[in-house]
Amino acid sequence: MSHVLIVEDEPDLRALVAHHVEAAGHTYSEAETAAEALKCARQQRPDLVILDLMLPDGSGVDVCRNLRAMPNLSKVPVIMVTALAAEPERVTGFEAGADDYVTKPFSVRELMLRISAVLRRAPTDPQPDSPVLAVGGIRLDPERHEVYVDSEQLHLTALEFRLLSALLSSAGKVLTRQALLEGVWEMSPDLRTRTVDTHVKRLRERLGPAGDAIATVRGVGYCLRDGSEAPE
Ligand code: CA
Repeated sequence: MSHVLIVEDEPDLRALVAHHVEAAGHTYSEAETAAEALKCARQQRPDLVILDLMLPDGSGVDVCRNLRAMPNLSKVPVIMVTALAAEPERVTGFEAGADDYVTKPFSVRELMLRISAVLRRAPTDPQPDSPVLAVGGIRLDPERHEVYVDSEQLHLTALEFRLLSALLSSAGKVLTRQALLEGVWEMSPDLRTRTVDTHVKRLRERLGPAGDAIATVRGVGYCLRDGSEAPE
């Protein structure tokens, strides 16, 4: 049995999907907006997210990016649902980290087959929610709330800890300032993105030479380099 988060603003469609998800033996929670989706996901970690692309308060692509920036949710499989069959939308969805894609109108049978396929691909014995994260000389232990650079322990603020955790969880991938604001500050981003810059700068200083691993991606955000990126 898995827990499925259904993000869809059309009530009839949401009810239809919920009905079939339940009939397949899963539990579910429902969200109508992007903001609700993130709130639900934080409250109860889903095993799978069915994510409508066009939501009243934003795009499913952003929801997906935000999930990927949250340490505990970065690996949750996402199936995107959209009325847009256009290739660029599909590519954007995959770039944001979607695992599969269904185009409206879809048959419920098709969706259910994809749900089983994605859940089958997900680890049956999932990693603990908080594995130790290590890249280069930086090591972060979420359970003990400890950070080490080489063998030296650092004492970070709670915010610096969450920021480093988000960067390590997505090592090698670019995180936008917006995604960091929502993932780390856990609120809708009415805060200025400069807040992110200020804190990243301080975090780099705290990490010393190891902080050089946090690269600025001009005009976009930040990326913690793990050596897997293509050389520039
Ligand atoms: Ca919609």
